[in-house]
Amino acid sequence: AEQFGMKEALAQLGIKTINEGTSTGINSFSNGEILESYSPVDGQLIASVKTTSEADYEKVMQTASEAFKIFRLIPAPQRGEIVRQFGDKLRKNKEALGKLVSYEMGKSLQEGYGEVQEMIDICDFAVGLSRQLHGLTMHSERPGHRMYEQYHPLGIVGIISAFNFPVAVWSWNTALAWICGDVCVWKPSEKTPLCGIACQNIIAEVIRENNLPEGISCLINGDYKVGQLMANDKRIPLISATGSTRMGKIVAQAVAARLGKSLLELGGNNSIIVTPDADIKMTIIGAVFGAVGTAGQRCTSTRRLIIHESIYDKVKDALVSAYGQLKIGNPLDEKNHVGPLIDTQAVEMYAKALEKVVAEGGNIVVKGGVLSGEGYESGCYVKPAIVEAENSFEIVQHETFAPVLYLLKYSGSVENAIEIQNGVVQGLSSAIMTNNLREAELFLSVTGSDCGIANVNIGTSGAEIGGAFGGEKETGGGRESGSDAWKIYMRRQTNTINYTTSLPLAQGIKFDL
Ligand code: NAD
Repeated sequence: AEQFGMKEALAQLGIKTINEGTSTGINSFSNGEILESYSPVDGQLIASVKTTSEADYEKVMQTASEAFKIFRLIPAPQRGEIVRQFGDKLRKNKEALGKLVSYEMGKSLQEGYGEVQEMIDICDFAVGLSRQLHGLTMHSERPGHRMYEQYHPLGIVGIISAFNFPVAVWSWNTALAWICGDVCVWKPSEKTPLCGIACQNIIAEVIRENNLPEGISCLINGDYKVGQLMANDKRIPLISATGSTRMGKIVAQAVAARLGKSLLELGGNNSIIVTPDADIKMTIIGAVFGAVGTAGQRCTSTRRLIIHESIYDKVKDALVSAYGQLKIGNPLDEKNHVGPLIDTQAVEMYAKALEKVVAEGGNIVVKGGVLSGEGYESGCYVKPAIVEAENSFEIVQHETFAPVLYLLKYSGSVENAIEIQNGVVQGLSSAIMTNNLREAELFLSVTGSDCGIANVNIGTSGAEIGGAFGGEKETGGGRESGSDAWKIYMRRQTNTINYTTSLPLAQGIKFDL
């Protein structure tokens, strides 16, 4: 890591190296147990973090509550100015933060920079939005009355995030929440705590420079236990949780039990339908990037290819040849296409999935395996695999967070492919590769894809921030980032104003005294 300038990057982001002590992040009050962050890139201990104890958590919540009382009074465009400054700070720190993302999480450096770019993009989006938090006006049924709606800040937004997008998901939530007048309490994944601290240190600088209360952005370090404190805390009206469906079900029930709101971004089982009219070259690029990018650890990673029987062999051969070109190794080295999985536990899950699919009758087309030897000392590097399978296999129905691509064959019309595509419990991202207008439109129609994201002639991964992001069914139903996703971060109020001297009642009801 030294040769890629990690030491300088950590110093720039305010993270202490092992010899310098433990890091906590500004305003995290962390005095709990030590959490160590090891890099999946080289297996080295990067730094130690102090976790948030229950007593620390109370302090965090108090600062957040106090900060909200002040922050909500600041006009939205001025809150936008804070987010603009934050975007500028991210521009200055893009290289250092992108490197840390790559080193702590294991995604390629390009993708690490891409993640920080996404943060900058959502800041720009939020700045414009800070002048557009519009409500509607309605015509009252009563004379001399006016009706309108307005959006007020909600309060404290709790963010629980996953390891695979260790910085971008936080910004998708915070950039919008802040312009909406909310304050944020963030619990990053315990697998990527340093990314959390780095982000917190960057925003804390902006807050300090503007003499604002530090509780506008709070950090909580730790595992699911502090996540549970947040889910059960009625001082947090909205919990935005990104991660596995297993986690989402637990968090959603805890939040629902106190009638709070939750925004859930959970697992996917994304597929690309490849019809006889598909451009094969485009299909291969989209499918291979979708399946092996981030080592198959994107919620939108391509897990299933649903290929028409007439072109099945052609697509399969082209995929095998493309997989033969893949370079697996240190993600900080831009020559490599595929980096490591997050940890050895993920490697075990990958190996088990491959065993299971074979046991269920799958046919291995590109053999996987765990890599060892020079450059692979962390034990987290695996070979991307391709397996011919059936959609009904239990393992195909399940999201395996690793580079395993299943080939499924369909015959007849595109309706059959759509049925396979929709025949899983998850509903995040989907795509069709076709030059046939009828097939494309059918795929996007009411009888088409049942996912939150449906693309034509683009793969399943790599969403832009301008659209609302999220999925249906066990993906959780939440939407964040662009479009009107901001509305969940505010409370809507309907106002009726009477400017006459009488009091007519709605629905013509008479009530004379
Ligand atoms: P995970 O569910 O193990 O952990 C996610 C976060 O939830 C972590 O911060 C963790 O500490 C916390 N957590 C776990 N159990 C909890 C509990 N009982 N109460 C409160 N908090 C709890 O997920 P992961 O392995 O970090 O991430 C991979 C998963 O995330 C995949 O399923 C992926 O598809 C999903 N994901 C979804 C999206 C999306 O936008 N839909 C985006 C990224 C990742």
